[in-house]
Amino acid sequence: MHEMTSTRATLTEQQRETLEALAGEIRVRRPVVAFTGAGISTESGIPDYRGPNGLWKRVRPTTFREFLNDPEVRAAYWRRRRERYPQMVQVEPNAGHLALVRLQEAGLLSTIITQNIDGLHQRAGADPESVIELHGTVHEIRCLECERRFPAAEFPLPEGDEEPVCPVCGGIVKEATISFGESLVADDLRRALEIARDCELMLVVGSSLQVNPAAKVPLIAAQQGAVLAIINREPTPLDPLADFVVQASAGAALSYVADLLTG
Ligand SMILES: [Zn+2]
Repeated sequence: MHEMTSTRATLTEQQRETLEALAGEIRVRRPVVAFTGAGISTESGIPDYRGPNGLWKRVRPTTFREFLNDPEVRAAYWRRRRERYPQMVQVEPNAGHLALVRLQEAGLLSTIITQNIDGLHQRAGADPESVIELHGTVHEIRCLECERRFPAAEFPLPEGDEEPVCPVCGGIVKEATISFGESLVADDLRRALEIARDCELMLVVGSSLQVNPAAKVPLIAAQQGAVLAIINREPTPLDPLADFVVQASAGAALSYVADLLTG
């Protein structure tokens, strides 16, 4: 109960009123669809790559072409992964992820379409089948030749600078995330767009909605007449199309909504 009180304290009176109205719409239009971005995971300590203090403001990301063409780029990529992945495995889901799971368990939320690669929705308890990871996941390794995917836990990286290869075909492998200049997985995007065309309410959480084609998903939902709700700390380009806009912490806002609906 202490947690709920402190959560409420970070929302303004007006934000609470907006979230109460949103909860009413969720009840009517269930099951709704969530579309999430980095802002839902920053409260777990994962940096927002494109936000005002985003990592990409300081470090230039590796492009897909560089990765394919340059063994030295790949060696640096795997060095970074060896350093970072053990930390990523230890990151815990936060109140925002848990609130979405509460909505899902109550039958109020069907699908979670996410731009995040951290796997935190599933770790929070979301049905893995219901999560569409548009930008892939750090928790799998993918072969660029045969397209096989391997759980990271079952794919030990070689020591030193030796390059990992596909154990089946010997092809170049990579984290199963979408790099700059790399296409999204066509099936994932198609499924997300189909869901956007069918849903009655799309709840955007923690996305700046500036990265295409992912940002097309809520745009299409709004264009086909779905109620669009956006919870994000900063304004987004789709705010003018949205029925509800709450500029607040994802964890605080979603917990408040979940308390109202599942309390
Ligand atoms: Zn392969």
